[in-house]
Amino acid sequence: MRISMVIAEAISGLGAVKTAFDMAKALENIHETVARDRAIIDLQKEILAAQAAQFALLERVGKLEKEVTRLEAWDADKQRYQLAELAPGIFAYSLKEGMANGEPQHHLCTACYDADFKSFLKRETWNPGRCAMIVCHGCGWFAYEHGSADPAHKGLRPTPYRE
Ligand SMILES: [Zn+2]
Repeated sequence: MRISMVIAEAISGLGAVKTAFDMAKALENIHETVARDRAIIDLQKEILAAQAAQFALLERVGKLEKEVTRLEAWDADKQRYQLAELAPGIFAYSLKEGMANGEPQHHLCTACYDADFKSFLKRETWNPGRCAMIVCHGCGWFAYEHGSADPAHKGLRPTPYRE
């Protein structure tokens, strides 16, 4: 979808260049000064439009290149984890044995992992009830490892920072 947007932009950018080129060619046949000046101004506008289109395109390509780099790195990192059950019915991606690279054991949120974001799960204690919680501050997911929900916990729920 993003790629097709880039192509559409490229084509519209090329369209602006083509218009400018056609206008430059037409200038040869304009001999009257006023008309010629007006045509030059129009041509300059087209050239600026073409430059703006090209600039927007380069910006878009730069963003996509960054995203590809991030996803490539994440793809390699992803292989270090496997699905594990932290508590009955509570799943996470946990470091595989021998893949720690010196890092302590940690767990990643499955929803964030599947959406290509690396988000560490955090253990928290929610009161009242001294509930043992597993929380993702990336997407706002949480689970009760021990203890039961209390209306007062509403204010403790994580605010997701990831869209
Ligand atoms: Zn998450």
